[in-house]
Amino acid sequence: MNEYDSNRIYDLAKKIDYYKTENSKEADCYVLNTCHIREKARDKVYHEIGRLKKEYKYKKKPIVIVTGCVAQAEGEILIKREKYIDAIIGPQSFHLFNQQILDLEKKSRKIQLTEFDVVDKFDTLNQIKNSCNKISSYLTIQEGCDKFCKFCVVPYTRGSEYSRSIDELLKESEDLIKNGSKEIILLGQNVNAYKFKGKKISYLINEISKIDKLKRIRYTTSHPNDFSNDLIEIHGTNKKLMPLIHLPVQSGSNKILKSMNRKHSVEEYIHLVKKIKKINPLIKFSSDFIIGYPGETNFDFEATLDLMKEIKYINSYSFIYSPRPGTPAAELAQVRKSISKERLTKFQKISEKIKKNYKRSLLNKEVIVLFENRVGEDNNYFGRDEFSNSVVAKSHEDLRGQVKKVKIISGNQTTLIGEINQEISLKNHAA
Ligand code: SAH
Ligand code: SF4
Repeated sequence: MNEYDSNRIYDLAKKIDYYKTENSKEADCYVLNTCHIREKARDKVYHEIGRLKKEYKYKKKPIVIVTGCVAQAEGEILIKREKYIDAIIGPQSFHLFNQQILDLEKKSRKIQLTEFDVVDKFDTLNQIKNSCNKISSYLTIQEGCDKFCKFCVVPYTRGSEYSRSIDELLKESEDLIKNGSKEIILLGQNVNAYKFKGKKISYLINEISKIDKLKRIRYTTSHPNDFSNDLIEIHGTNKKLMPLIHLPVQSGSNKILKSMNRKHSVEEYIHLVKKIKKINPLIKFSSDFIIGYPGETNFDFEATLDLMKEIKYINSYSFIYSPRPGTPAAELAQVRKSISKERLTKFQKISEKIKKNYKRSLLNKEVIVLFENRVGEDNNYFGRDEFSNSVVAKSHEDLRGQVKKVKIISGNQTTLIGEINQEISLKNHAA
């Protein structure tokens, strides 16, 4: 989401003649877009500002703005401690950027804007074309969260759940496609909680899919409790909807899920996975896991390993629990760091093995790839298959934006190497 936000900040700033520079040593304005989800977020800001101070020691000081969730959560401390920062602008106030930059050009003063103005933000952004022209583009459809998992800062930094209107999202999707995008990834902290005037994400996906030149659609991140039947059903009917679902579970222990306030059990989660697979058996899953959450015993950890093995996630993102200031879990008795580290190593060893086996199973198989860009100088093209696996293949034809059948001939954990199987673009490519 920060990538989407950063692009929109660039789009906004053009209106006052500020443009993206590739040369960070000669910027007039420097914006740090930050993430607060895990530890040391504030330290990273200090570190970056320290670097900046050195770089600009003998030059005109740029206007320095900190935005994103660290600005929201810890802005007051930041601006008091670090004089080099001119403004703190929270993620729901960044539509006010231009006015602040113009004010700061005139005179130096400290600005702190951390209101939750999400309606005004999107009203402003809707007036400005999204200029992103990547083959695969992000589109924020929903922001914020009302779930209050006990470890998480999102409800405090992005505010409560907000869904953008169907009309504005269709218009922005059309703009992205006109810019050359072939894939849209719908974003939200709780993307499947999307609801606008009774219309859910399934309706939105079907509407966006009607745009002729759009080839693929994905969405992330889903909460298991918001995975309603209509969304499951379109995985069986919508040919542009890709068959990889990111469905974070966090833990395989009911005791820990309860203590996290996740509001579902392991059994309910497995039941959901089975229900989705029944609609489309090709579907695969990826997940996030928190290791060493307060109260996690070896028994709880083993249950998480069991769940991972049972679902066979093709991608597992695992993190040691990081106490976030102001969240309820930060007050609980913590698991010793050395134990968490040990468990994380064990977890990642097993998840990598599952991933390795999965990638190996693709050898000599055919996958369907949307190519995104050229890599290196050897006519190599990079793209992703339907399950988001990275694939590189050689071609004399410019493959960017094209969907091709590719036979996998080798590869490692991160990238598969393939040969183009059929030099004809596939119009309706879903398997
Ligand atoms: N809304 C999504 C997740 C958003 S946060 C969901 O409900 O699943 C992205 C991921 O960061 C989470 O899935 C979680 O695994 C991780 N995360 C969030 N807070 C964390 C914390 N305090 N410590 C460690 N990992 C955390
Ligand atoms: Fe955070 Fe996701 Fe829980 Fe919301 S549902 S509080 S975003 S982890």
